[in-house]
Amino acid sequence: MRTVIVSGASSGIGQATAERFARAGDHVVNLDVAPPSPGAPDGPREGGGEVHWREVDVADWDAVREEVDRVHAARGRLDVVVANAGISIRHGICELTEAEARRTLDVNLMGVLALWRHSVPHMLRRGEGVLLATASVNGSRGYPLYADYNASKAGVASLCQTFAVELSPLIRTACVAPGAVLTPMQRAEYTEAMLQEVNERIPARRHALPEEIAAMFHFLASPEAAFVSGQQFTVDGAETAGATTAF
Ligand code: NAD
Repeated sequence: MRTVIVSGASSGIGQATAERFARAGDHVVNLDVAPPSPGAPDGPREGGGEVHWREVDVADWDAVREEVDRVHAARGRLDVVVANAGISIRHGICELTEAEARRTLDVNLMGVLALWRHSVPHMLRRGEGVLLATASVNGSRGYPLYADYNASKAGVASLCQTFAVELSPLIRTACVAPGAVLTPMQRAEYTEAMLQEVNERIPARRHALPEEIAAMFHFLASPEAAFVSGQQFTVDGAETAGATTAF
């Protein structure tokens, strides 16, 4: 049974990812500041795997190290890490505060770095491992009102490249860059009318389901993806493939 750490698995993309791995038979540890949602409590899953929540703030470097070491000591192996926990704060550049920007970078970028960094020694000792993370299409473009968020996601894509080059061939990396995904994060920031407007701008005419991002993570963690490393994979219903309207 593989041991998989997924951060931010109490909600949205992380929850769908944890469920996907657990249903395929993996032991999943969910590192999240919030408890699991009532619809996905801790415990065994059909398919033989299980999910267990640990209260960890991924922005806390030492807490992440202690938890990764604990998981490895308890399970004897660490196969896959999905660094997914993230936050986004909608603010124009002139409203942006130091505290908000630092928190966004601490969770979204330092959180990925901490989780990957502390997993590496365990994976190297065993001679294999897969490091995955949730980036965003907005890490590759100047999406307005999210300057700090966009920068944090560009940083995640950069970590993905450097970790792959430095740690290959024993450790593979990859990140998924979703477009709009219908999760509690998205619902918290957009009104129903705004969500509809987003749908109209996406050639697929809808948001992604969290399960569609989870499916990509599951493939990237599988032996079928053995030659995939160091790259970001966009899952966005063609949102960033080109202009959606002709003039
Ligand atoms: P979500 O808010 O539904 O879930 C995020 C989870 O992360 C929550 O359970 C939250 O408690 C947890 N979390 C937040 N801060 C944390 C911290 N410091 N330590 C540990 N856990 C923490 O959001 P989501 O939409 O599922 O987003 C998941 C990831 O996907 C994020 O990195 C986000 O930036 C990225 N993403 C989302 C979208 C989208 O449209 N929803 C698009 C692109 C990228």
